[in-house]
Amino acid sequence: MSGLRVEIDLDKIGDNARHLVGLAAARDISITAVTKAVLGNPDVARVLTDAGVVALADSRVENVERLRRAGVVDPIWLIRSPMPSQIDRIVAGGAVSVNSETAVLTALASAAHRSGRVHEVIVMVELGDLRDGVMPAMLSETVEHVLRLPGLGLQGIGTNLACRSGIAPSVANMGELSDLAEMVEAAFGIELPIVSGGNSANLEWMSQARDVGRINNLRLGEAILLGRDPLTRQPLAHAHTDAFELVAEVIESKRKPTKARGRHGQNAFGEVSATLDRGEIWQTIVAVGQQDVAPFGLRGSTDVTILSASSDHLVTETSHQMAPGDELRFVPDYSALLRAMTSPFVEQRTHAGGQVRPPGPPGVLAGVR
Ligand SMILES: *Cc1c(COP(=O)(O)O)cnc(C)c1O
Repeated sequence: MSGLRVEIDLDKIGDNARHLVGLAAARDISITAVTKAVLGNPDVARVLTDAGVVALADSRVENVERLRRAGVVDPIWLIRSPMPSQIDRIVAGGAVSVNSETAVLTALASAAHRSGRVHEVIVMVELGDLRDGVMPAMLSETVEHVLRLPGLGLQGIGTNLACRSGIAPSVANMGELSDLAEMVEAAFGIELPIVSGGNSANLEWMSQARDVGRINNLRLGEAILLGRDPLTRQPLAHAHTDAFELVAEVIESKRKPTKARGRHGQNAFGEVSATLDRGEIWQTIVAVGQQDVAPFGLRGSTDVTILSASSDHLVTETSHQMAPGDELRFVPDYSALLRAMTSPFVEQRTHAGGQVRPPGPPGVLAGVR
């Protein structure tokens, strides 16, 4: 038992997923739900598959294995290019992997061949954001490589934008992906089942595009889990933005000055901070820190202001004195959620229909609690 926990409202996540699956279906686009922010939490995964997503996706093979151990038989995509050291695990986990390196594809093919399986792949194309993906001019060559290798199946092509460089999905780059899909299909006389246009940042494009072309899939994480558009971080219409809450305990609350006293050097994180003198305030310390969250990604109630955070202390200003043991609730943004779900010090509690469920099978990093 720990006072420090993430509370996960499965009903709200289910609502968000059903809503987005419906919006996408109206444009003949299927949804793959991305579980990396919840480390492949099986309770969340079940709500997502019940909502009608065609596949789950995660960036870590450990999370794929966690889902398989929990009995998930739905398609799971590994949406980070495989680590060569994990090839056998990826094939054994029955994941569809995204790829951009021919050497990795060759290794996947031999591993699949050895174990008598067919490993399905999606070839990623770089369309401006400069993260992973083959350059468009190299797509044909890569596809040819996949088609030549026994042991591999080609599920389709995809791209990822708005991640490293914040490049927005547009009529132009989605048109380019669509054209590339048609070019590949014509050149090799095949049909690509999946043309995956991107992530949550594609929703605005999806709702506004006159024609979505050959794009028939999006991979959604943040939009489903946090109900926000990552391009603007604005709430999406008809979406819950508070499916996750971080709850943490007060460990000290005192009247203190706002201006620090003494000579200023660097703080614990190498920053030199000058404090403004605003007189005395109720300074309340909450037992959560950099190790557990991205502190400035937390949104508290209006009478709580986050002032600073060390590894283990979140220093806040509250409107009144609080007692040790009092709980404060915060809604995390994507970075704060990712880190909270990864911290072994943060308990995860899912609830649905007003009921709190006991913790599911432990994640890869569980054990410290
Ligand atoms: C993380 C990720 C996603 C999901 O992104 P969201 O912005 O959370 O929707 C989709 N595709 C890939 C390849 C990713 O790495």
